[in-house]
Amino acid sequence: MKTNPFYLPELKYQLNDLAPMMSQETLSCHYGKHFKTYVDNLNQLVDGSKFEGLSLEEIVRKAPAGLLANNAGQVLNHQLFFEQLAPTQHAKQMSGELRRLIDQSFGSFELMIEHLEQAASGFFGSGWTFLAINYNSELKILSLPNGDNPLRYDLTPLLAIDVWEHAYYLDYQNRRQDYLKNLWLLLNWHVISDRMPVDYGYL
Ligand code: MN
Repeated sequence: MKTNPFYLPELKYQLNDLAPMMSQETLSCHYGKHFKTYVDNLNQLVDGSKFEGLSLEEIVRKAPAGLLANNAGQVLNHQLFFEQLAPTQHAKQMSGELRRLIDQSFGSFELMIEHLEQAASGFFGSGWTFLAINYNSELKILSLPNGDNPLRYDLTPLLAIDVWEHAYYLDYQNRRQDYLKNLWLLLNWHVISDRMPVDYGYL
């Protein structure tokens, strides 16, 4: 029997809520078409395979490099991406713990954003730039190609920045840096803080 365990998560905002930084046209194409295609592909690839029944995170961790790993990774990456966005007028405070780790790792929030922007704008080709955390509660910035995800390197992703052209081309054409500058305004740091693993301090 065919099962479809993965689905497109609902957005907590309307498609026109993030404009002009991210237009309704971009959101409906990126969320409604690209993201949906990754979900559909993943359901097809998992169906009848030995990965059936595993959670999305388990598939992302365990799938051998290739089509399944990329599609599962793209579903998780887009889940993270769309969940962490919010209209600019919403409260988006980060936790004190994340603030402390950012200051400790990068000197300041502003310096971290500079590092993220450098990594994301300098990444060649299609992929993602992440802020992630390791088992020693150290923050890392890393860029990964295609649908790769930090979970495959024993890191927990906190912030996922989509640098595929489909994420920004309709609004910014080739100006990836302008897309990034506006993306910082849409981040909900409360959601990002909540992704910090609660038990790391005790390992
Ligand atoms: Mn995308």
